[in-house]
Amino acid sequence: MNYKISKRAASLAPSLTLAIDSKAKAMKAAGEDVVGFGAGEPDFDTPQHIKDAAAKALAAGFTKYTPSAGIPELREAIAAKFKRENGLTYKSSQIIVSCGGKHSCYNVILATCEEGDEVLIPAPYWLSYPEMVKLAGAKPVILQTTDKTEFKVTPEQLRAAITPNTRLFILNSPSNPTGSVYTPEETKELGDICVEKNVLIMSDEIYEHLLYDGAKVKSVASFSPAHYDHTIIVHGLAKAYSMTGWRLGFLAAPEPIAKAIDAVQSHSTSNPTSFAQKGGVEALNGPQDHLPVWLAEYDKRRRYAHAKLNSIPGLTCVNAKGAFYLFPNISKTGLNSSEFCAKLLEQEKVAAVPGIAFGADEYIRLSYATSMANIEKGLSRIEKFCKALVK
Ligand SMILES: *Cc1c(COP(=O)(O)O)cnc(C)c1O
Repeated sequence: MNYKISKRAASLAPSLTLAIDSKAKAMKAAGEDVVGFGAGEPDFDTPQHIKDAAAKALAAGFTKYTPSAGIPELREAIAAKFKRENGLTYKSSQIIVSCGGKHSCYNVILATCEEGDEVLIPAPYWLSYPEMVKLAGAKPVILQTTDKTEFKVTPEQLRAAITPNTRLFILNSPSNPTGSVYTPEETKELGDICVEKNVLIMSDEIYEHLLYDGAKVKSVASFSPAHYDHTIIVHGLAKAYSMTGWRLGFLAAPEPIAKAIDAVQSHSTSNPTSFAQKGGVEALNGPQDHLPVWLAEYDKRRRYAHAKLNSIPGLTCVNAKGAFYLFPNISKTGLNSSEFCAKLLEQEKVAAVPGIAFGADEYIRLSYATSMANIEKGLSRIEKFCKALVK
């Protein structure tokens, strides 16, 4: 049988992260002592009070369809979060709850982009953005950055890339995979250009709360009514509440865009899981005291890993100001990122993600959402590996 695969599906790049991950898992299953730096999720458990709220809803029979865009209680809790933490006013009707922040991103791109449109994506990028743009039939346009600018696009770079076909600019700060954070001034400047050129901004703020060294973020939507009108904020509970498996994300958008996204979602997934949404209400409205504890732990690991990486011959690493990733430069080892990660896994049993997956082949991504003991063990193996390469 000759199966015809649609152009859309066939155009997608297979996930390199998954290939490394499945190899690491197979080695672990075979009893090998693998250290994993691949995790894209917190290593902490979901706080108990959030689990309790969902369990209670489940036991009480809250198991039926909800409105496609989410239960009113959760949309109100999200609107209250934007008011309280960001000084942004959204009506519940401008908020859509989706099945994860990833799903929110996909909905935004699907509802705003089509054939002939260009979407500006700074690299290193979260690996799903370009693929989502292709699924929508639009064209990803990559704005390459390096560690010399701490992986941030400059206003000149953004301005030069805008054409009459530019529809959307994707901003992700703090960033996955680099951990870089735009200052409020830098964010405003990029926003000013998008307003001037009438380009929409999808601002992925999922790592908003994971900040270090006194870094501050300000949502691009918050600088003026015009910025607000040009911005769709994508967010979720996965990272700050360690709820990756719950599949709960949300977005805030100008009313007509929210309406279009609601229509898309109502014909694809319908509502996110009913009782998970009750957990989401508790996450946003309940105590937030887990966060400083987690942040202190991430920060300790980040400081250790950053210093250690820079002491290893052949590696240099700018420090991350947010999220839970470091993105060291491996170019002096003479290997590209796929070779580096494949050999590292084979020879030293350390799993890392090749930068090529994020559009940056001179780097690898290391997640420090893993224990200090693992970080120490894994980095000393990387040290041994690099010493043999660089000499
Ligand atoms: C983790 C992540 C998301 C959303 O993850 P979900 O599990 O789908 O909520 C969105 N953007 C970035 C950059 C992420 O790293």
